[in-house]
Amino acid sequence: MSEYTKPLPRPTATSRPFWDAAKRHELMLQRCRVCNRFIYYPRDRCPNCLSDRLEWQKVSGRGTLYSYTIVRRAATRSFADKPYVLAIVELDEGPRMTTNLEAPVDHIKIGMPVVAYFDDVTPDHTLVKFRPA
Ligand SMILES: [Zn+2]
Repeated sequence: MSEYTKPLPRPTATSRPFWDAAKRHELMLQRCRVCNRFIYYPRDRCPNCLSDRLEWQKVSGRGTLYSYTIVRRAATRSFADKPYVLAIVELDEGPRMTTNLEAPVDHIKIGMPVVAYFDDVTPDHTLVKFRPA
């Protein structure tokens, strides 16, 4: 495996459960115990009702493509190796995730079903990306 040169996540106390789950190849989201909504990105309070009674739950990893762009001219050198698809996926549980979609460009359609997969980019870092379902 060649050395991974792109920026890596730096988990905080709040986001660490998300990244630890990714390492186990599981997608986990916070869920509010008061209003029951799923939350992404990880935070200390529910953005809907402001409760701090949040818990982590494993979710399906399934969703649909909400929006995307094909990045052909990267903003930084570390992403300049090849074009990539920057996507927003709407998870079946509700939240939208900004992510990468691995799919042939001419097969990408808004609304297409997608599923999470886990890219072990280093021994300590796993990224959550999506593929066509
Ligand atoms: Zn809430």
